[in-house]
Amino acid sequence: MSQEAWSTAWSDPALRVPLFQVFSCLVRHLEKLMALKDSDENPSFRAFHCIFICIAVGLGPLLSGQLVPPVATATRVKVAKMAVDTQLLHALTRALAALVDAETKGSKQIVAAARIGDPNAGPLLQEQTPRAATVEYCGVCVRAFIEAALGPDAEKMRAVGLHRAIESSGALPRLARSMMPLSNVAVELDEALMAAAAAKAGGRAGGSRGTGGSSGSSSSSTAVRVHREGAIKQIRRVCAIVMELWDGHAEAIQAAARSEPSGGGKAGEAAASRIRWFEGLLSDPCVRHFMLQHLLAQVAAADGGSCYGMAPRQLLQAAEPMVPESDAMRLEVPNEDPFHTIMAAMGGGAEVPLLLLDCVYTSVAGWTVHSRPPPAAAAATAAGSGGGGGDGGSDCRSGSGITPDLQWPPGVPWQARNVFALVDSGGRSGLLRRPDVPLRGMQGLMRRLVDVCLASLVPGIKKHQQEQQRKLGGKAGASAGTTAQLYTIANAQPTATGRAFPARGSLMCASRATLLAFSNRCLQAQERLQQQQQKGGVAVGWGQALEPPQGDIRALWRPLVRITHACLDVALVTGVDLGECGFDKSGEAAATADADTKPPLYNEAVDALRFIERLMSPCGGLRLPRLPPAHAGLFTLLPSPPDGLRTALEAGYVPALERLLRALHRTEGSNRELCHRSLGGFGLFASHFRSFEPVWAAVFAYGEPREVASLMATSATTMRLMMSFVVGIADMTWDPEYTTGTIRAAKRRLPGEMAMRRRLIRGPNLLQGVLTWLANSAAPGGAPAVSNGWAAAAIEAPGAGPAAGALVLGERWWQRRWRHEMAAPGGAGSSSSGSGSGAFDWGVPQPALQALALCSFTMKRWVYWMARSGRNLCVMAQKVAISAAGHMPGLFVNPRTVGLCRLPDDPAARLDDDLDHVGVQTRTALGAACSVFRAVPVIVHAHLLCKEFAAEARQRAGSAGIGAAEAAAAQAAAEAAEAEAEAWKLLLLDFSHASCFELVAEVTELMTNTVAGSAVSSEHVRWTLYALLHLAVAFPEDAARELKKYQVPSPYFSSSPSRPATGPVPKVTADAALQAACVQVLGLQVQGIGTIAAEFFVLGRLINNGRAEPRDVEALKAGFPLLAPWCSVGKLPDALWARRVAALLPPLALAGELVGMSSDMCANRACVRMVGDSAAGVTLQRCGGRCGGAASYCCVECQRTHWNAGHKEACGKRAAVPK
Ligand SMILES: [Zn+2]
Ligand SMILES: [Zn+2]
Repeated sequence: MSQEAWSTAWSDPALRVPLFQVFSCLVRHLEKLMALKDSDENPSFRAFHCIFICIAVGLGPLLSGQLVPPVATATRVKVAKMAVDTQLLHALTRALAALVDAETKGSKQIVAAARIGDPNAGPLLQEQTPRAATVEYCGVCVRAFIEAALGPDAEKMRAVGLHRAIESSGALPRLARSMMPLSNVAVELDEALMAAAAAKAGGRAGGSRGTGGSSGSSSSSTAVRVHREGAIKQIRRVCAIVMELWDGHAEAIQAAARSEPSGGGKAGEAAASRIRWFEGLLSDPCVRHFMLQHLLAQVAAADGGSCYGMAPRQLLQAAEPMVPESDAMRLEVPNEDPFHTIMAAMGGGAEVPLLLLDCVYTSVAGWTVHSRPPPAAAAATAAGSGGGGGDGGSDCRSGSGITPDLQWPPGVPWQARNVFALVDSGGRSGLLRRPDVPLRGMQGLMRRLVDVCLASLVPGIKKHQQEQQRKLGGKAGASAGTTAQLYTIANAQPTATGRAFPARGSLMCASRATLLAFSNRCLQAQERLQQQQQKGGVAVGWGQALEPPQGDIRALWRPLVRITHACLDVALVTGVDLGECGFDKSGEAAATADADTKPPLYNEAVDALRFIERLMSPCGGLRLPRLPPAHAGLFTLLPSPPDGLRTALEAGYVPALERLLRALHRTEGSNRELCHRSLGGFGLFASHFRSFEPVWAAVFAYGEPREVASLMATSATTMRLMMSFVVGIADMTWDPEYTTGTIRAAKRRLPGEMAMRRRLIRGPNLLQGVLTWLANSAAPGGAPAVSNGWAAAAIEAPGAGPAAGALVLGERWWQRRWRHEMAAPGGAGSSSSGSGSGAFDWGVPQPALQALALCSFTMKRWVYWMARSGRNLCVMAQKVAISAAGHMPGLFVNPRTVGLCRLPDDPAARLDDDLDHVGVQTRTALGAACSVFRAVPVIVHAHLLCKEFAAEARQRAGSAGIGAAEAAAAQAAAEAAEAEAEAWKLLLLDFSHASCFELVAEVTELMTNTVAGSAVSSEHVRWTLYALLHLAVAFPEDAARELKKYQVPSPYFSSSPSRPATGPVPKVTADAALQAACVQVLGLQVQGIGTIAAEFFVLGRLINNGRAEPRDVEALKAGFPLLAPWCSVGKLPDALWARRVAALLPPLALAGELVGMSSDMCANRACVRMVGDSAAGVTLQRCGGRCGGAASYCCVECQRTHWNAGHKEACGKRAAVPK
């Protein structure tokens, strides 16, 4: 019957009712007929099954709404109601069970007959048995009913009880369960026929058995296909149902989330019951078992194993998926094309492929299902975690009273998107459970799945790469070269068969699989912890430790690294910028696009990114193991890393993280930098670099030094980039280009993101963490029982007199080579820089040696950028203060943005770092400056230590009684030390761009601003004073010159009520302004006033005279003991902390040599470009002009920028002008 005929038939009540009654009767009789012996031969069954199939062919499309012309919804609902009322689904389920039973038994008889060469068996094998055909159409009917329950008329179907009937009949589980016996039978039939054909062929041609029948018996393989493909079609059908249910489940969750805010009790209940229905069906043990079996079968088949018991050679005769090659390789498809259409559209065919990735994906996704606690429970958890964090001492604590939050960092894309939560299972109803497979087995399976998926990506990546290179043509050999070495191509192992899944979906599947394996580990670890607590009554939970346990995740590092690289490879070859992804950059869509609802483009790398970003973040993802507490200090490091750490480092975690960071932040000003709601922002960066301990201390000690150095260089650049995007819309007040558009953009901003950035700038952050770790390590008594030579020497500094201030030259380990060469000139054969660092014995254990070199390297990069960006933040905050005060000059005034600058009345809003008002901006700018000021004393001491060595060496060179060679060697050492001293100084006082004196001036101007003043804390004024004292004593001439240059408006004048309305504001030097700020902030703290007055007196004298007296230097070396109780880093107040730390740190050039990466940076001071995959991989190109290569650049753009920014004048006309 045609579709049209069926439409007419179902629409006519006179036909509809009897047709249905006949069908219903048939179903019930089928079950009974199966009890007969030889049911397949039974004439009444043969008659019944014909009619059954005939009506089923019409019933299926009717229910799923696919008949053309369409049948009225009311009619379809009536049919469904009849089915419910007559319990048709229950009957179908029983019939299905009976049919499968009978078919299994009957087929076994045929197999037995074929095996003994019964000639009657032969013909039977050539076609599908009537029972098998009936089973197939039972499956068609079950699917049709479920589709009716999922379709657009779902609510009407629900009203007549269809959903309940589907659930209570158990039709789907029964169908899923029948797959195993059916595929078994198909396999046995295959084998029997193969054997018979082989015997026949053997009889004819005499022993060509070895070919396995693949070429010799084409007739038999056609025949055998009938049975096998019957089973495969059924398997595909169940797969399709599972995926349709999963999609429906996701939609129901979204719908529930949309209805939640409106909060109707009834609507909420209905939504919950809908979700419960989906989860009930999906969580059935038979369905779950089917999903697991399917997953296993797919992975096994790709590797040449058996799939559903079918021999590999048979399976692989199936054609490749019927997707054109270009399509299968396509990693970017329009969004209208939903994930599963290709799969769903394939109802079957003559050649049905069995390698189906989509259902595997569904299975894996289903087991990592999102479970969102009801709002009340969530609030309770949040409160609990806040409370738990309060008493647990941790690095999350910060001065501004922020309670640590387990969801930190906010502003990460996975929170904006809906799909999953990591360590959770059960879905909304709690019914969805992971399969009961031992953890290790599951993990092994997931790892293999990742491998197969990544192998599947290779052809697509290669193809895109070739296309890209073709497009680039000969013009850019360099950029073609950069993509030539893609990680995935170089590292993916092909499967044993060489076959793989379609490229599309593979990356998502691999990400999901890694996530599943990881969350399994977490769940297990947490269950164990809970059991222990219940047993032992120990009250220690992870709430207190702030970190949920993760279990043994050693095996997961490599898969994680591999999927990260795969994601980046895919993004690279498809030309997607991960900082701008998910948007169509042109047209209307660019303004309205929000990936929460519907991104205009689907790219798999973009979709997988949110999983990978989360997995790569220590908060929420895999965490590197910490060092054992007794061995976490610099002097107590073990010679080799703990096992878990080594696995992660060997897997390539560090370079993968760096590559990911660079890819995310490659484009300055991208939507990610602007923290667009659907892209996230600096979550990954913030998650890693808010502290030094415990993770980075371990990585510094045991990582590959060059890799770590490269990552640290990238982290510093990212920090600088982040700092330039922390200025909020308030700063735009000054620019007439930004008005309502900016405010609109801010509304799409990810909540919490700005707060997260600002907290990271104020600290704790990596820079502060490095200093704290070093100070704690070096503190006397800080390292228990330091007895080994270098450690004791470094801490106690031999030769130190009784007075702390009398610290003299000690055996600093980094001076060893200089001393060595002075003692034995020419012994090493060459100049100091020539001898390899690897060969020289520094007398320091390798972990500590490289950790210290990396500390110097990292400090340079971070201080450099934080000082410059901190200065900019201060300037911006001053502008905001002027706006807030209503003193904004110029014609352009936007009252809305001005309003945002003002300090809000609400105390909570004053503390809200997500806002842009003057208080927040001031706090952030001063926080950034204080991060730098903490490092200033250390750098000053490091400079002085080099100077001291140079003086000593010069003295030796000039002393009588030594040979010419010795004198020359001493002179060379003195020069080397002077150069290193200069390098330290340049880090603080780079007068061509920005010096710390300028930073001090900007800070004091901001602090004395009347509007901004309320955000200034005692910590700010003290650290500014402490840093300024160090700078002024160490560099008095520069201090005098620079501070007179960068004067600030007099605070005494501007705060006076008698201030004239017009006229110039008198200016004072920064120290005077700072004194005013100190008096204002510390005014009531009587104890400190005297000290501070004395220090300001010294400062004034230094700045006036431009030279320091010996007692000033003594005070500096003693660490300004009067101020030290306030300005100390580390656990205990220690005036000498900075000097001790400086004694440990190798000078910058040596540090670069030791880590294997030059400490030189791109000469373009605005450079935030992150070209390539690693900072170490960027070769700086020297300027070819008159400067003689003093300037070097990361790329041509930077050279051009720097050239126009003034290098043209410095370098002269003969320089190589960038093309
Ligand atoms: Zn030049
Ligand atoms: Zn550059």
